[in-house]
Amino acid sequence: MDCLFCKIIAGEIPSTKVYEDENVFCFKDIAPIAPVHYLIVPKEHISGADMINGENSHYIAKIFEAAAKIAKNEGIESFRIINNCGDDAGQTVKHIHFHLVAGVKMGWGPESLGKTE
Ligand code: 5GP
Ligand code: ZN
Repeated sequence: MDCLFCKIIAGEIPSTKVYEDENVFCFKDIAPIAPVHYLIVPKEHISGADMINGENSHYIAKIFEAAAKIAKNEGIESFRIINNCGDDAGQTVKHIHFHLVAGVKMGWGPESLGKTE
């Protein structure tokens, strides 16, 4: 399958790995929007949050377990997890991924959507 994140998980495309276990892979985002910006992905190819079902939802729990471990390992006390699903939401890679961002005081409100129109 021609998927960028499947290739990163397989080591065919280099990345800066932060954490890995049997279900989950975490690596640094190539274009960080915050001092800490990691991507957490399931090792199974799932195209987006709209494809989560009873068969694969355990990966979502594993991703959040990994996020808590990663935050502890890296000494991150406060973080935000973001998932974009679909084109209007800004999903550019069609392998479900969760952005873990931290290291900056973040705003919260309509403007934080970064609306383009
Ligand atoms: P999305 O916009 O789909 O929610 O997030 C995709 C993310 O993947 C973006 O933040 C982008 O910077 C990151 N990204 C795209 N290509 C690569 C790559 O080759 N390596 C890494 N480490 N991150 C990438
Ligand atoms: Zn994939």
